[in-house]
Amino acid sequence: MGDGGQKVLEPKKAHSTGDTGSGHTGHEPETSPIGSGLKKRTKEALKDDFLRKAVAFTTDKLRGGRLKAADEFGDWETWRERGRAIRQHTISHLDYYLGQFADNVVKNGGNVHFCHNGDDAVSTFMDIAGRHRAKLVAKGKSMVSEEIHLNHHLEEQGIDAIETDLGEYILQLARETPSHLIIPAIHKNKRQIADLFEADAGRPFEPDTKTLANYAKQKLRNYFLEADIGLTGCNFGVAESGSITLVSNEGNGRMVSTLPKVHVVIMGMERLVPTFEDLEVVLNLLARSATGQKLTTYTSILTGAKRPEDLDGPEELHVIILDNGRSEQLGDPIFQDVLNCIRCAACLNVCPVYRNVGGHTYGSVYSGPIGAVLTPLLQQDMKEAGTLAYASSLCGACYEACPVKIPLHDMLVHLRHRKVKMKLTALPERIAFKVYQTMFGSVTLFKLATKSAYYLQKPLARNGFIKSGPPPLSGWTQSRFMPMLPKQSFRDKWAALQAELAAKPRNGAPAVGGDAKAKGGGGHDAE
Ligand code: SF4
Repeated sequence: MGDGGQKVLEPKKAHSTGDTGSGHTGHEPETSPIGSGLKKRTKEALKDDFLRKAVAFTTDKLRGGRLKAADEFGDWETWRERGRAIRQHTISHLDYYLGQFADNVVKNGGNVHFCHNGDDAVSTFMDIAGRHRAKLVAKGKSMVSEEIHLNHHLEEQGIDAIETDLGEYILQLARETPSHLIIPAIHKNKRQIADLFEADAGRPFEPDTKTLANYAKQKLRNYFLEADIGLTGCNFGVAESGSITLVSNEGNGRMVSTLPKVHVVIMGMERLVPTFEDLEVVLNLLARSATGQKLTTYTSILTGAKRPEDLDGPEELHVIILDNGRSEQLGDPIFQDVLNCIRCAACLNVCPVYRNVGGHTYGSVYSGPIGAVLTPLLQQDMKEAGTLAYASSLCGACYEACPVKIPLHDMLVHLRHRKVKMKLTALPERIAFKVYQTMFGSVTLFKLATKSAYYLQKPLARNGFIKSGPPPLSGWTQSRFMPMLPKQSFRDKWAALQAELAAKPRNGAPAVGGDAKAKGGGGHDAE
């Protein structure tokens, strides 16, 4: 190992202030607009064969693992229903459980900070860091800290933040944001990771899993030991005890939450379960849905700060509970269930859109079907973020995969509806639908329009198909042929057919439209 035994603690050089001048710690806030940049990012992703293969390969494995684990578990639908009921109950009584959870955290010697938005959470964290004169923060995996762009703010204050989850660490070296909820570096292969480590260590690396993991382990060990603050997310808070549950397959969550003197947890306000009995259900669902495991390798349940009789643990525990748009969904008959999400990423792994473009295309911390619903709701921005609702085929695969049965496909339709109602769709689209509405509202206009369309399409058609249409048709014909509208409509054909049948009864059958009863035909045909 290049760094083995050597005291290496140079996060600034290695991670924060590289000579690119990007001025971030690896997780730059998304700057290209979420909605208006979506098309461009999609085009780029579709051209990137490597990315598409890498994402499809890993999501296939995860999807297969989930199906196998669910099958082995048995009675999966009953467990899903239990999971849904627990989450629905918790969210419907969130005020009660938040109070109970916070009281218990305090009873166990911790501190609780309720934060209305990202800025509040950042300044609360900065206050804690300031009081401890923190220079180095070791981070466990935390999507919420991504949501509030905490690393960016820490860097502005001259505080180094080191990601200790292997995937996040790789991305920090690559100066990229996560592209999957549980496998943040899903879009990278071993060779790319070896290249990043080579640049970091200044020596060659074989693209071998063990070698790469060992290098990261050696580097991260020093950060765990030297960090002033350990920062983690929270998979589930248990209201009845005020405990924080962390699940990981690397054990870094354990190190981050016990070695530094101060442990700060940043969690979304919805990440609660009432009891340990409920925790058992959601942990089972989470591990199986996320990776196909029975349980994740490390499941840590942390209750309070270090007590005198404890051998290890933080001397100070802070729990930052973040709203940031979540409470807006409470009481909403359509969208409240989005707060039931346990962030397992099963919906990403089955989504035909996500699987073809990867997570960065969404331009948001949360990608895939859950990201397409959650992002506009949390940001309360239908204009830009609301466009993500169109990044879906509405096939419903996400609902089928979701362990807590969130009807994401229905929510996507409702978001589209909301966007239309707010007149936030493009003007040409609004005009087109107005014309469509008028045309479909009148038989005469409809007939006229279909007749004219038949003649208008003729110069574009060859052998019954339009192979390359003008805009906006070009988007459709880019990947498929469009059949020509027929000269005669179904309605016209039907009238002609009826007339023909009435004129020529066959095999002694009563003529269509004739008096069947009078001919002893039993009466059914005529009714
Ligand atoms: S919406 Fe369902 S499937 Fe998707 S991440 Fe959340 S819990 Fe998992």
